[in-house]
Amino acid sequence: MFKQELLQLEKGHLLRRLVVVESYNGPYITINGKRLLLMCSNDYLGLAGHPALREAASAAMERYGFGSSASRLVSGTSALHRELEQKIARFKGTEAALAFNSGYAANTGIIPAIAGEGDLILSDSLNHASIIDGCRLSKAEVKVYRHRDVDHVQDLLKQGFLARRTLIVTDGVFSMDGDIAPIPELVLLAEKYRALLMVDDAHATGVLGDTGRGTAEHFGLANRVPIQMGTLGKALGSYGAFVAGERTLIDYLVNRSRSFIFSTALPPMVCAASIAALDIIDREPERRENLRVNRERFVQGLLSLGIAIEDSETPIVAVMIGESEKALMVSEKLSEYGIYAAAIRPPTVPEGRARIRATITATHTADDIDSALGIFDRMRREGYL
Ligand code: PMP
Repeated sequence: MFKQELLQLEKGHLLRRLVVVESYNGPYITINGKRLLLMCSNDYLGLAGHPALREAASAAMERYGFGSSASRLVSGTSALHRELEQKIARFKGTEAALAFNSGYAANTGIIPAIAGEGDLILSDSLNHASIIDGCRLSKAEVKVYRHRDVDHVQDLLKQGFLARRTLIVTDGVFSMDGDIAPIPELVLLAEKYRALLMVDDAHATGVLGDTGRGTAEHFGLANRVPIQMGTLGKALGSYGAFVAGERTLIDYLVNRSRSFIFSTALPPMVCAASIAALDIIDREPERRENLRVNRERFVQGLLSLGIAIEDSETPIVAVMIGESEKALMVSEKLSEYGIYAAAIRPPTVPEGRARIRATITATHTADDIDSALGIFDRMRREGYL
């Protein structure tokens, strides 16, 4: 029944296969017995393997066991869930916060709870799939605006004045391109047209802003984004997600967000690891500085080699390839030469815009970056880039 479709995908170079990682060691991984420099993880600050997260998780497991055993509203809320949410609210400078089981669960739970029949959602054309799915689950009218095009947002706001409630939703940092949403303009538009603004800071949490609070801090607008979603499985090296905002928003989501209500709570040990990660973000600002320096070294290196990259101010650096077949070939060649960076193909990115999405982390050394640049240079000389 499904074979035909799989064959079709394979023919279009769009078939996906799972790659098994045999071991992790900082920015190095082992695949098929071969040690490779990892250049596509979201572990931006290098916290996924940090001893403080391991210790916090083991201590929590000793105390609470592994599973949470029920959904949050039944008996799944441990003291660690509460502590994590209070810590996130302090971190984001909001009245309250709510943990979700993943970023995917957060977006598919928050959006349909906030916008329903008679409402309007304006969504950036390059928003993450979980936002798209959240919009699909909602009964609101959804209008997709051109990527980062605030004039288009304004036109749609003018046309949508009859909507009961309007939600503008955007990635803070776009996951596949690494560019940043025009938050200052969106804040002004949302305020002017009395719309709600929701920002998905999956790739900005821990990374952007002087103290790693995300895109709102990056633009000095910390209190003007009413719905700030973020994830705990990327720069924080843990797992799960959150939304931070006013107390009434959080109380409302506890009552209305289906992915929150109808799903087993995160294991307490995962909350403990996230709490430890939030402490490190404050205690070790040098990680963010290393990340910035590494990113700069990599980007300048690629530019001086004449390798075209997308405009990005973040550790996500997209090397545009175009066709899926070629992106797969480039990714395979990179692994042969010692770098692991997966080929990103449609439908994750638009047709004809397959790419290598390279990511930089705080734990890459200058030597790692230089050797990666050496490999990219070799690929360029051999005609792959
Ligand atoms: N939003 C964005 C922008 C993302 O990039 C991702 C993860 N790829 C998610 C949400 C989903 O987060 P999670 O992996 O925690 O489900």
